Amino acid sequence: MPAKNMDELVSLCKRRGFIYQSSEIYGGLQGIYDFGPLGVELKNNLKNSWWESMVYENDNIEGLDASILTNPQVLKYSGHEDTFTDPMVDCKSCNLRFRADQVPKECKKEDLTEPRQFNLMFKTNVGPIDDGENFAYLRPETAQHIFTNFKNVIDSSSRALPFGIAQIGKAFRNEITPRNFIFRVREFEQMELEYFVIPGKDEEAHDLWVQKRLEWWNKQGVPTENIEIYNVPKEELAHYSKKTIDLMYKFPHGLEELEGIANRTDFDLGSHSKQQDEININSSVKVNKNSNSKMAVQNESGDWFVPYVIEPSAGVERGFLAILNEAYSIEKLDDGKDRVVLNLKPHLSPVKAAVIPLKKNNNELVTLAKNIKNSLQKLKLGRVIFENTGNIGKSYRKHDEIGTPVCITVDFDSLDDKTVTLRDRDTMIQERIDIDQLSEYLKNLVNK
Ligand code: ATP
Repeated sequence: MPAKNMDELVSLCKRRGFIYQSSEIYGGLQGIYDFGPLGVELKNNLKNSWWESMVYENDNIEGLDASILTNPQVLKYSGHEDTFTDPMVDCKSCNLRFRADQVPKECKKEDLTEPRQFNLMFKTNVGPIDDGENFAYLRPETAQHIFTNFKNVIDSSSRALPFGIAQIGKAFRNEITPRNFIFRVREFEQMELEYFVIPGKDEEAHDLWVQKRLEWWNKQGVPTENIEIYNVPKEELAHYSKKTIDLMYKFPHGLEELEGIANRTDFDLGSHSKQQDEININSSVKVNKNSNSKMAVQNESGDWFVPYVIEPSAGVERGFLAILNEAYSIEKLDDGKDRVVLNLKPHLSPVKAAVIPLKKNNNELVTLAKNIKNSLQKLKLGRVIFENTGNIGKSYRKHDEIGTPVCITVDFDSLDDKTVTLRDRDTMIQERIDIDQLSEYLKNLVNK
């Protein structure tokens, strides 16, 4: 059963070191968060899982790690300078500013100003002269540098259609009203794939990617039955989109977008191209006098055409929140007490196993526990912790709460018979297992 409300998740995240408010000691910075010791592990595991499912499991998808600072021309031709805006209103009663579609119920209609368009991109000065001319944008999506590198990747990897370019990285949006914890923030990470296809094959590829993304979320612990498919109506589509499917998840604050899967047609590659009249662009694009590259390919008869692109675009923070929400539960135990447990999929768990000596000051137990930790760590499955608290019950509770799939207790019998106690997070069942079998056990658990 998911969390009852956002406060439970916020409190767990702070208490256990998943997420902190950024610059908290100075009162914070609105819409900006820091990921703590456990948060960074879960986030990395999530990103690795995405990367594996895209780049390693598909032989026609390449990776990219492009810059955050972006030449303004990229975002001029992508349409972001003109259209990456949200309508904003001011409330004359409470003096706060809101996105026009997100005004709280307390503000009366008659107190609101007419909506004004507000561009969401952050700008920063580049170089030593701050004259307003030498600036760059912090990218508002990772996608654009995938498009600007399209030719580089094709030329260096000899790819033919269909093929994809995947990227994970930071994006920045000056959201008018950041809120709902890490759901809507001003600095976040995206996991984006641009999958290039021959025009005409785009609709089929779009359907396929919607299915693939649902399967992937299911493997991360967000079941398909908890995701609603929203076919974005024409009037709400982004300027580049022919069709967009949003995967909507019931976050603690309501049903909202977890991931968008858009058919961006040939808009982006067409917009960034020179000699646009020679490459048969279907979309309506701005005349480009600045690009030095033709973002197009040739068909068998030598005619130029611009590939269409399908874009599954997921937010790391929103994924993190959905996964945490699904994994969180409070169980009633036989003794009447409550147990908070994160039923995370083991590949996502920040800590894969905790090795706990029964007594904290016993040299032999501590040495054996450390040796076990070191050998399990070498498997490179993720973080394994040596937990020297001397309080087994307390350690179990902590590891339930942070989602560690197994605890391994080293006791005096372990010294003689080379076995340890394995305690399973979900069932709480304890069993003895040979130390020799631990590696195999953990590998199977994390890779299942
Ligand atoms: P919304 O309508 O919620 O503002 P969007 O449609 O503008 O989102 P996209 O441009 O499609 O979002 O971005 C792709 C993904 O990036 C989203 O599905 C979401 O997971 C993530 N994302 C976008 N904006 C934010 C944000 N401000 N904070 C956290 N994640 C975000």
